[in-house]
Amino acid sequence: MAHPKASLQHAEALARRDLLDLTSYDVALDLASDDTTFGSVTTLRFTSGSGTTFLDLKPVTVQTVRLDGRPLDVDLLARGRFPLALEEGEHELVVEATMPFRNDGEGLHRSLDPADGRSYVYGMCFMDAAPTIFACFDQPDLKAPYTFHVRAPRDWTVVGNSPGQQVEPGVWELDQTQPLSTYFVTLIAGPWHVVRDEHDGIPLGLSARASLAADLDKDADELFTLTRQSFDELHRLFGIRYPFGDYHQAFVPEFNAGAMENPGLVTFRDPLIFSSRVTRGLRVARASTLAHEMAHQWFGNLVTPAWWDDLWLNESFAEYMGNRVTADVTEYADIWVDDSYARRQWGLVADQTPSTHPVAGNGAVDASAALQDFDGISYAKGCAILRQLNTTVGDDVFFKGTIDHFERHRFGNATMHDLFASWERAGAGDLSGFTDSWLRTAGPDTITLDRAAGVIRRTPPTEHPADRPHRIRAAVAEDGTWTDQVLVIDSPETPFDAGDRPVLLDPYNETWALLMPDKLTMDALEQLLPGIEDPLLRAGVWSNVRSSLHNASVDPLDVLELVVGSLPIEDTEDTRRRTMAWVYGWVLPLQPDPGVAIAQVHEAARGKLAAAAPASEEQLAAFRVVIATASDIGMLTAWRDAEDLPEGVPLDLDLRWRVLTRLATLGAVDLAELDRHLDAEPTGAARVQHARARASRPDADAKTWAWSCFTGEVNLPNYELEAVGLGFWRGGQEELTDPYVERYFTDLPATVNVRSGWVLADAAEHFFPRTSLTRGTLARCEALIADGDLDLSMRRRLVDQADTLERKLAVLEAYPRT
Ligand SMILES: [Zn+2]
Repeated sequence: MAHPKASLQHAEALARRDLLDLTSYDVALDLASDDTTFGSVTTLRFTSGSGTTFLDLKPVTVQTVRLDGRPLDVDLLARGRFPLALEEGEHELVVEATMPFRNDGEGLHRSLDPADGRSYVYGMCFMDAAPTIFACFDQPDLKAPYTFHVRAPRDWTVVGNSPGQQVEPGVWELDQTQPLSTYFVTLIAGPWHVVRDEHDGIPLGLSARASLAADLDKDADELFTLTRQSFDELHRLFGIRYPFGDYHQAFVPEFNAGAMENPGLVTFRDPLIFSSRVTRGLRVARASTLAHEMAHQWFGNLVTPAWWDDLWLNESFAEYMGNRVTADVTEYADIWVDDSYARRQWGLVADQTPSTHPVAGNGAVDASAALQDFDGISYAKGCAILRQLNTTVGDDVFFKGTIDHFERHRFGNATMHDLFASWERAGAGDLSGFTDSWLRTAGPDTITLDRAAGVIRRTPPTEHPADRPHRIRAAVAEDGTWTDQVLVIDSPETPFDAGDRPVLLDPYNETWALLMPDKLTMDALEQLLPGIEDPLLRAGVWSNVRSSLHNASVDPLDVLELVVGSLPIEDTEDTRRRTMAWVYGWVLPLQPDPGVAIAQVHEAARGKLAAAAPASEEQLAAFRVVIATASDIGMLTAWRDAEDLPEGVPLDLDLRWRVLTRLATLGAVDLAELDRHLDAEPTGAARVQHARARASRPDADAKTWAWSCFTGEVNLPNYELEAVGLGFWRGGQEELTDPYVERYFTDLPATVNVRSGWVLADAAEHFFPRTSLTRGTLARCEALIADGDLDLSMRRRLVDQADTLERKLAVLEAYPRT
C-alpha cells in the first residue's frame, strides 16, 4: 500500500549534510522468518554538530530506537521520518524494525517464480526506497561503508555489494563495502543460479532464477566476454582500477528499469536473459546496457552527484561511454545505428514536449521533482551533447579532465560545475558558451532546407530562444548515389544550393536538432531507400521521417508508401529498434482507412518473409510483423498448432503467444484456451503474455477484468499490469472501449491509493486511452492536468500523453480522412 511520504527537499538535505558526518552502517536482516516482512536492525555510527535532524525510516512496525544506548519514543515516527535532537560529538543509533517485502520492484522486492514456485528477493534502493530496508539518512551525499549480516532460508544464496561468505547454514556475512550512497545499497537472496568467472583479478558473477538457468548458461560466455572487454577498455580510458571488489551481474524478476548500477552488484531486468529466439537488436541493446552500467562504476558510483539535479550527468555520461565502449571493443560495433533507431527519437520527442527541460538540472527543489526530469533528455540528448563535447575538445582533454574529476572526488560527491572545472583545467578552454547553448537551454533547433530560397534555415524553439552553431554533414543524392557535404550552420540562414537533388540533413546524428526532409526528398525516398546500403544513413532516413510525421509535416499516406515499399525491419529487431512499434502506433492509426493500411503492411511483410533465408533474423522479424497484422484466423490457428510454419521458424514461447495475442485481439480464442496455454508452460514470461492476450479480447468481460487491474481491485505485478494496459486499447474495438475513456480520467487519480513510485506513473501511461483520437479526449486530459491535487508523476505522464494526442490530431487535421 502507498503511504503519504514526504519527498526530501534540497534545503533539508543540505542542512543534514552540514550537521552530520557518517562513520558506518551495520545492517542485520532476517529474511527467513516470514514471507511478507523481514527483520531489520541498523546500527549507524556518525559524528554530529549540535542540532535537530531526522532519520528516514519506512517500516511496517518499529520496535526500538536507541540513541547512544538511550531508548527513544518510537511513536515519534511520522511520514517516514524519525526526529533526532543531537548533541555535538560521536553517536551510535540502533534501530530495530520490521520491514515490508514489496512487490513493485522497489525496496526489498520478493516474488514467486510461477515456473517452479520458488521465491526470490532483490533490493532496489534508487531513488528513495532505502528506508524500507534499513534506517538511514537517505540522500546521495551522506556516504558510508556498509557491513551486512543476513539470515536467509538454508537453500538460498546471498550476494551483496561486497564479497561475502556463508558462515553457517543460512547465515551470511558480507565484507565491509567502500563508502556508498544509500541509493546504491542492494542484495539478492534466493535459490539463484550463479555462474562465476574471473578477469584481471576481478571475480565476476552472473545470476538468474533457477528456471532460467539453462538460458543464462547459454549466454554466459557472451556476457562474460562483453564484461571483460568493457573492463579492459574502461581501465585503459580512465587509468583508474575498478574499486568495488567483485563484479556481479544479477538478472532479476519484475525489475522496473533496464538495469541499476549498484556498485559490485548490478541488477538487470531478467527478460534480458533470452528464453525465446531474439534478433540482433535486442542483443545490441543488452550489450550497451551492460557497458552503460560498467561506466557508472566510475561515473556515479566512485564519484556521485551531490544532489539529484545532477543525475542527468550520471546517465548522459554512462550512455555515451557505454555506447562508445560497445562500439569500439565488442562485437556490437553497430551500437550507434541502434542508438539512431531506438534512443534518438526518445530524446527528440521528449525535447519537443511542453515538459521539456534543459539537459542540466536547474536546482530541483526536491527528490520527486528531480525524478520527473529523468527521461530521454537525460539519456539520449545528454549522450549526444557529451559526444559533441568529446569531438570538440578531443580524447586527450576529455579523459584528462574526467580522470582529474575522479581523483579529486574519489568515493565522494561532486557537481556538474566540478566536472566542467576539471575539463577546463585539462585544457578545454572556456566551456561556458557550450554549456549555455547545449546543456542549459531546452528544446531542439529545427533545421530545414528551403530549396526555392537556396538556404538552410535554423529556427530555435519559440519558448526557448538560443543561438546554437551546428556542424553537420548533409547526404545529397545524385543519380542514385549519396555523397556527404560538410555544413556549418551558425546563422538563421545558410546558403545551400540543392538544385533538384534529394537531401538528408545530419543523418549521422552529429548535432542535436529536429530535421525533416522536404517534399522533393520525401517523394524521392520511396525510390532511393531500398538502395541505401549504409545502415547509419538508413537509420537517419527513418529518424527524419519520424520527426516529419511527429510535426504533421508529411502526409501519412506518403509515410505508408515508404513503409510498405521498404518495410523497416531489414536489419532490425522489430520492437527493440522501435521502428515497427512506431508504424503500429503512429503510421497505421493516422491512415484514412487503418484496416486497409494494416492489410498493405501485412502483404509487404509476407513479401519479406518469402524472400528471407530460412532461420535468418530477417525472417523472424518479418514473421512477427506478418503475425501482428494478420486477419486470417485459419492461418493463425494453424501456426498456433505449429502447422504450416515458415521453414526454419520453430514455434517458441514468444512466437506462440504473439499468435495467441493476435487471435485474442480478433476475438478468435476464449479465456479457457489462453489459460490452457499458460498452464502448459507457466513461466513468468508466459504470464505476462497471457495478461496481454486476455486484455486484448474484444469482449466486455475481458475489458471489465482489465479495468479492475488498473483500478487495483485485481492486484498484478508490474510487467503483467503493463501488458494489460497495452492489450486493453486496440484499434477497431472502440465500441467496447469508448466508455472507458471517461473512466480513465475519473479513476486515475485514486490509483495513488493502490500503488506508488515507478509503477504508479507507468500504469498512468500504459492505460492512457491512446486509441481515442478526439479533441474531446484531449480536453478531458487537459482538465485533469489542471487539477492541482493530482500526483506529480501522473501529471507529468498526462502532459506527455496530451502532447502525443495533440500531435496526432494535428496530422489528422492537416491531412483529413475524406
Ligand atoms: Zn544509467
